Amino acid sequence: STNVKSDIEIAQQAEMKAITQIANDLDIKTEELEPYGHYKAKLSLDILKRLETKQDGKVILVTAISPTPAGEGKSTVTVGLGQAFNKLGKKAIVAMREPSLGPTMGIKGGATGGGYSQVLPMEDINLHFTGDLHAITTANNALAALLDNHIHQGNQLNIDARRVVWKRVVDLNDRALRNVIVGLGGPIQGVPREDGFDITVASEIMAIFCLATDVQDLKKRLARIVVAYNYDKKPVTVGDLGVEGALTLLLKEAIKPNLVQTLEHTPAIIHGGPFANIAHGCNSVIATKMAAKLGEYVITEAGFGADLGAEKFLNIKARTSQIKPEAVVIVSTIRALKMHGGVPKNNLKEENVEALNKGMENLQKHIETIQAFGLPFVVAVNRFITDTNEEIDAIIKWCEKNNFPVSLSEVWEKGGEGGLDLASKLISEIEKGENNFAPLYDLSDSIENKIRTIATKVYGAAGVEFSTKAKNQMAAFEGEGWGNLPICMAKTQYSFSDNPALLGRPRDFTITIRELKPSIGAGFIVALTGDVMTMPGLPKQPAALNMDVDADGKAQGLF
Ligand code: ADP
Repeated sequence: STNVKSDIEIAQQAEMKAITQIANDLDIKTEELEPYGHYKAKLSLDILKRLETKQDGKVILVTAISPTPAGEGKSTVTVGLGQAFNKLGKKAIVAMREPSLGPTMGIKGGATGGGYSQVLPMEDINLHFTGDLHAITTANNALAALLDNHIHQGNQLNIDARRVVWKRVVDLNDRALRNVIVGLGGPIQGVPREDGFDITVASEIMAIFCLATDVQDLKKRLARIVVAYNYDKKPVTVGDLGVEGALTLLLKEAIKPNLVQTLEHTPAIIHGGPFANIAHGCNSVIATKMAAKLGEYVITEAGFGADLGAEKFLNIKARTSQIKPEAVVIVSTIRALKMHGGVPKNNLKEENVEALNKGMENLQKHIETIQAFGLPFVVAVNRFITDTNEEIDAIIKWCEKNNFPVSLSEVWEKGGEGGLDLASKLISEIEKGENNFAPLYDLSDSIENKIRTIATKVYGAAGVEFSTKAKNQMAAFEGEGWGNLPICMAKTQYSFSDNPALLGRPRDFTITIRELKPSIGAGFIVALTGDVMTMPGLPKQPAALNMDVDADGKAQGLF
C-alpha cells in the first residue's frame, strides 16, 4: 500500500542521539572514542586491553535460508533483535558488516536493515561510511603497484610474471575489469602481463582485516600473503617484497571498529564486510570481540544462507578467534520458501500454501546444518505484509510438528517490539545449556576431505569432482605446508549446489571444484565451485537508476 514508508524515509525522519552519548552508555572512555562527525565514531583498540579480563557477552549468530535476489531480511532481523533485547532490559550490541557499493549500486540497494529495524545514519553507512573499504582497496592496490614495480625494476625475486596471483580490486560491480592486460606501451611502462580485478570485498586483505586480532597480527598476516610464484615455482610473499609495514600503515585507522546506533538507539558496531559467497562473509573478529566485551548480548550476522556465511563463521571465524555462538537464528521468509517450492519470482505475492510446504525442505536442510554444528537455534519467520494468515499458520505448524523452536518476527514493521518473542525464545534456548558446538571438520584432514565434508554434510551433495587444475593445486599446496588450513568455499548463494537454478533442496548433485586459491594471510584455502565470479556484474536494471540527491543534498532511492 502507498502509506508504507520506504527504508530511507524512515531513516531520514529518525532522531539520532549524539554518538558520544551512545558511547557513554557503554562506559567507553572519552579518549577511546574518535568521532567521525556527530553520529559515527571509531573505537580505540585500547578498549580490548582495558576489558581483557571482563567476561564476554553471549554471541548470537543470525543466518538464513537460501535467499532470493533481494535478501531475506537477516540484517533487518539482526538489528530488530538487538533492539528487542534492549527492550527486555539486556545490554545488547549489534555487530554487522559494512555494505559494499557493488550490491548497493547493483541489485540490492542498501544493507543497513529495513523498516523500523535499521542502523543509522543509513546513507553514510551505505555510501562511504568512515572510509574503511577505501583503505582496504588502497592497501590491495598499493601491493599490486609495488609488485609490478618490483618486476619492472630488475625483479630481484625472480618473479614469473605469468604466475602473479595478486589481483587489483575496486568496490564496484564492474565486469569489464574481470580480465585486463597491464604494462602495455613499451619498456618504461612496466612489464606487460595478464591481470584482473576482483571486487574489494573478495580481497584477501578484507579477509585478513576481518580475522586479525590486533595490529601486530594484522601485520603478520599481511606478510604471509602469497602474491606470485617465481621461476622455480616457489611462492613469493608480501614479506619477501618487504612491504607489510606499509600495508599495515594504510590500514591502521580502518582497523578500528565503527560505532553507530539503530533507530531505537541500540549500539551497533559495523566493521569489515567480506561477501559470503566468494569470501568468508563475517564482520571483523575485532568488532565481534569488542561488542562481546561491551555488551551482555551480541547479535551478529553472517552473509547469505547457512550453507555459506554460517558454515564459514563456524568452521573458520569461530575456530580461529574462539568466538563461540550461544545460539543461532535462522531467518526465513514465506516468499523465499514459496520460490524454493517452485513459484516464479513475479508470483510471490499470491497465497500458495502448497508451494510453501514444498519449499520448507530448504529451511529443513539449513536447520540440519546448524544441528550438525551442535548449536541451539530458533527459526525466525520474517513477516511481510503480503504473507497470508494461512501461510503463517502453515510454517509455524510445520516447525512445531518437527519440534523446531520458531518465532514470528515483526521487527520490520514494529522495531524491537516485534522481536520480543524471538529474543525470549533465544534466551530460553540458551538457558537449556544444550550447546555442543564443534566445527564440522578437523584441520588435520586433507584439503580434499575437508571440501568433501562441507559439500556432503552442508550442501547435501552426492559427491565432489575436482578439475585437473584443482587436483594439482591440492598436491602443490600440501607440499607447501598449507594442508592444515580451513576451507573457504566460493559458491552461488541461491542453491545448495553450484548451479544457481537448482532451488529448494536438490539431491544427487555433484559439486565441481574448478580452482583453489591460497589465502595464507587470511589463513584459509579458497575453493571455487561452478562458475562463481570474484567480480560480480551489474544487472539490467541496476539500483543506481533509482538514486538521486535533492537540492538540499539529501539522498534518495537508497531503498
Ligand atoms: P539480508 O540481510 O538477508 O540481505 P536485508 O535485511 O538487507 O536482507 O533486507 C533486504 C531488503 O528487504 C531490505 O530492503 C529490507 O527493507 C526488506 N525487508 C526485510 N524484511 C522485510 C519485511 N518483513 N517486509 C518488507 N520488507 C522487508
